[in-house]
Amino acid sequence: MITDEEQALIRQCMSALQAGLPGFQTRRQQLQMIAAVAHALGSCRTEDDGGTTGHNLALCQCGTGTGKSIAGTVPALVMAKSRGKRLVISSSTIALQQQYSDKDIPTLQRLLPLDFTFAVAKGRRRYACTAKLFAALDDQRQGDLALHDAAQGAATSPSDATSLRQLIQLAQSFDCGAWNGDRDELNQPVADGVWERVTTDRQGCAGNRCPHFANCPFYSARQRLKEVDLIIANHDLVLASLQMNGRGVLPDAADTFYIFDEGHSLVAKVVEQFAGRHALKGGVEWLRGLGDCVRDIVLGLQLDHELYRGARAICRELSADLEQLHRALDRTGAFDEKPIRRFKNGVIPDWTRNPGTNILARSTDLQQTVALLREQMFERASTEATLVTRLVAELGFFASKLENLVDTWTLMLADDSLQGVPNARWIERTGAKGSHDYLVCASPISGADKLRRLLWNRAGAAVVTSATLASCDSFAPYLNQAGLSIYPNVRTLRVNSPFDYRNKARLILPPMKSDPKEARAHTQEIAEILPRLLTTRGSLMLFASGRQMREVHALLPERLRQRTLMQGQMPKKEMIARHKAAIDEGGTSILFGLSSFAEGVDLPGEYCTHVVIAKLPFSVPDSPLEEARAEWITSLGRSPFVEIALPEASVRLQQAVGRLLRTVDDHGTVTILDRRITTKRWGSALLKGLPDFTVLAGKSANSAIAEIAA
Ligand code: SF4
Repeated sequence: MITDEEQALIRQCMSALQAGLPGFQTRRQQLQMIAAVAHALGSCRTEDDGGTTGHNLALCQCGTGTGKSIAGTVPALVMAKSRGKRLVISSSTIALQQQYSDKDIPTLQRLLPLDFTFAVAKGRRRYACTAKLFAALDDQRQGDLALHDAAQGAATSPSDATSLRQLIQLAQSFDCGAWNGDRDELNQPVADGVWERVTTDRQGCAGNRCPHFANCPFYSARQRLKEVDLIIANHDLVLASLQMNGRGVLPDAADTFYIFDEGHSLVAKVVEQFAGRHALKGGVEWLRGLGDCVRDIVLGLQLDHELYRGARAICRELSADLEQLHRALDRTGAFDEKPIRRFKNGVIPDWTRNPGTNILARSTDLQQTVALLREQMFERASTEATLVTRLVAELGFFASKLENLVDTWTLMLADDSLQGVPNARWIERTGAKGSHDYLVCASPISGADKLRRLLWNRAGAAVVTSATLASCDSFAPYLNQAGLSIYPNVRTLRVNSPFDYRNKARLILPPMKSDPKEARAHTQEIAEILPRLLTTRGSLMLFASGRQMREVHALLPERLRQRTLMQGQMPKKEMIARHKAAIDEGGTSILFGLSSFAEGVDLPGEYCTHVVIAKLPFSVPDSPLEEARAEWITSLGRSPFVEIALPEASVRLQQAVGRLLRTVDDHGTVTILDRRITTKRWGSALLKGLPDFTVLAGKSANSAIAEIAA
């Protein structure tokens, strides 16, 4: 429960914001969210509690304009401080992470009657590995000298010269303290190819044996994370850290309060995180490189030659296994018609299982040999620190590949009966015939179990928030997918947008003649109706298929086509900039976009007063992962349409209509050119999930369109 002191402090904080932020008003919707967050965090789990019943977990769906970042952060800061916990605010896009770190949190730090510190957590690869930076600089200089000698004075290539100049600049600015090694803090962007040479991953890092450890940008940032009250992170980093069970960059889950903003993407992120894939021929190539690398290490550091002989033997056998599987897949002829072969119900045939068992056994052996080699290398670190650090970085590249190989086959061969949900398993043929390769792929089909074990059962407390968590007006689909439905006491809260949808926005559902399944007729009908709809200064037209978007565009009258910016013609950023410029100059502009325009695009005021949706955003389950998920639900006697397709379409539709009102002064219209929303039984479920629009259908829709066209 929340104490009186905590409640009083939250109230003081909100008063301070009201006094310090011009135009800031505490709204009812914001107070509802504050209460839900404070209650969930106030019921935090302690060590003695054992399992959770979900009293410390909450879902808050907050409509646009609620001010959810403040409504989440203020009570979370107060509760974390008061309960001695660390606070992690996680989002899934860089834009939102930056909004927290550059705007919202500094504002709260300035105005709240609370002392707190914060830092942004980033992955290792956002930081320079200074050991690699100086080694790359040496290599580049020596390479340039060699080239110079070979050409007897001829100049090096321009790209080499640019790389060298960039490496020198990076090293100098780090050396003199002008730059802290964080890629995002660079004044001049560095090319990906150059950055790749100066950064590393966990496997390529020598840790405290590295001579640069004391000044290592990554470890300095990590140390800072241990000291601050609030960490701004992203979902990938949080999940990776949870997987490392307290050894990752973030604090232990039990000592942490989490706020997951944009929490609708958490489930997909956890599935991605645990998926694995590797290429067969590609594997043979890097195994050759690994053999050479081990040889160089053994010779360079004069280590036990047995290690090299052992590693070389396993690399050869493992390569033979991968080649054998490649040949076996060629012989099946199974990829001639379709490049992807998914294994039904996740059951892999013996001709994959048997070689796979050998591959997993040998790659696990090789991993042990590499671990032994690393140990022996580190024994030399006190006398040969620079060389050891350099060789660890080289070995790290291969160790990561090896880890991926082991993980993929572990998932490929796992006994699904233990978890009750099958994994999705498939093989993809890539590249042109003759030089083709095969990708072996495996992925969990659900993130529920992983989230339960890693997060919900261990977190001090957690709140998941987003503008789109509920689908068809129900939290049940999200609760199921996220593994939360087993906890009886999870709080759910739906906070409606403070925008006046009823009076300022209308939803037009015209009685279309064609069904979207009759693609040609539907496209033709859209092209006919659009000139009557696209009459406002700023419009956004959303399509579910690129083909239909291009066909409709081609059918538009010339005067409209000239005012239309279509996705694919230029980068999205440029489209939006041009659109805004046209409106600012007093003109009109129409954006034609696909699903990426339905999320995260902010077009307030006259930039967008009409959103037109060509087709309800159902996705076709055409990826092996989606197919496997649908197959599993069907095998349980349930409906994938009801459990997956409809809830997902509902979330996407909410996101799409959310493009209309962006501020309290906005007004406008959403038109949906898909008659199924009124003719199908499930259409009303989709409508229920939308804000409180004035809905015009049938004759009133036709009158509204005539009025718009006039
Ligand atoms: S500690 Fe690791 S990441 Fe840091 S400089 Fe050394 S090798 Fe690179």
